[in-house]
Amino acid sequence: MIRLYDTATREKRPFEPRPGQPITIYVCGPTVYGRAHIGNARPYTVFDVLRRLLEHAHPDHRVIYARNITDVDDKIIAAAAAEGVEPSVITERFEQLYLQDMRALGIRDPDIAPHATAEIGPMVAMIEALIAKGHAYAAQGHVLFDVASDSDYGALSRRDREAMLAGARVEVAPYKKAPGDFVLWKPSLPDVIGWASPWGRGRPGWHIECSAMIRAHLGETIDIHGGGIDLVFPHHENEAAQSRCAHGGAPLARYWMHNGFVDMGAEKMSKSLGNVVTPGELLAAGHKGEVIRLALLSAHYRSPLPWTDALLTQSKAVLDGLYRRVGDAEPSKIEAGVNEALGDDLNTSLAIARLGQIEDPAVLKASAGLLGLLPMTADQWFRGEGDAEIDARVAERTAAKQARDFAAADRIRDELKAEGILLEDGPGGTTWRRA
Ligand SMILES: [Zn+2]
Repeated sequence: MIRLYDTATREKRPFEPRPGQPITIYVCGPTVYGRAHIGNARPYTVFDVLRRLLEHAHPDHRVIYARNITDVDDKIIAAAAAEGVEPSVITERFEQLYLQDMRALGIRDPDIAPHATAEIGPMVAMIEALIAKGHAYAAQGHVLFDVASDSDYGALSRRDREAMLAGARVEVAPYKKAPGDFVLWKPSLPDVIGWASPWGRGRPGWHIECSAMIRAHLGETIDIHGGGIDLVFPHHENEAAQSRCAHGGAPLARYWMHNGFVDMGAEKMSKSLGNVVTPGELLAAGHKGEVIRLALLSAHYRSPLPWTDALLTQSKAVLDGLYRRVGDAEPSKIEAGVNEALGDDLNTSLAIARLGQIEDPAVLKASAGLLGLLPMTADQWFRGEGDAEIDARVAERTAAKQARDFAAADRIRDELKAEGILLEDGPGGTTWRRA
């Protein structure tokens, strides 16, 4: 039995797939104009575990996991203009870096990765349907969602619809009927990326992208929609409104799941605050992807996660301990306690604690696999470790020899020998190997 906290109902509810149907998950993907930071990586790590858990719990249902790529956006357009290149140069570069970072964290590629620029047709069709049903209106090259037409607007984020409709009247765009109305389509200037549409040349708003791609690839109602807590409003509220209104009231998702922020000190990590740490930087600094993964899973996904150097050190130590115990075991069965912890709204911290109590290496291997942990053997994990330190000591010995301090040089050689490291002096310098 899996229970998931549903943001829409504000409670944990048992999750059951629809009989005879695949289990469909959609997680809002990145807007590809910069390097993903650790806070961005958290939802992809969390929902990767959810995907593994559902596959294990429901072998009779196919799990279809979609994660989109937002490759048209004002920030992308600005980044392309700043470099004097086409937007696709920016988006292709950062999509590749994003995929590289996610894979390094052991995050499996999605089954479906729709790109916004390849799905303009379904977006235009959904906007046309919303206009036909009286939920959207065209004005001055824009199309806007008419919040007043949707009595359920605000239900997901529990915001007061009347207050949003009244809103602050200051600086309301002249083409909007109400301040809360949001853009489905907007005009593009001739030198800006755009597509022909019934409302003139333009480009889609961000929210319609997810609604239209979910409809095109997964159907009107999906099982689970996920993302960071900052997406609840406006992004997911707007997605829910668009889909519900376009599809005769059918809900967009049966369950809505949102993860908490990663904090730096007392602050939320964000590009605008300039306090970001990226997986790319951590990997380049020598931290293993699996250490970052364990760190991201160390707190319950709905709690804030304070990001510190100590967290990385501790996560490395936990993995060293688990790898020493797992050795080169082949996976057998999953320990019930780990399965139960994850089934209770993805209690990853409890599941990790329980991994530490498993004595049978084969059971440990299988149970860790549910969290996407311990994919390698102990040999592979520890291989190469400490190489940089040995290199540094060899360099120290070379410097001592050059300074004619042979006593120090011999001492370093003997210390290394005692650790099983043999040095060979040759014409090209000193090399080392393990005995
Ligand atoms: Zn989305």
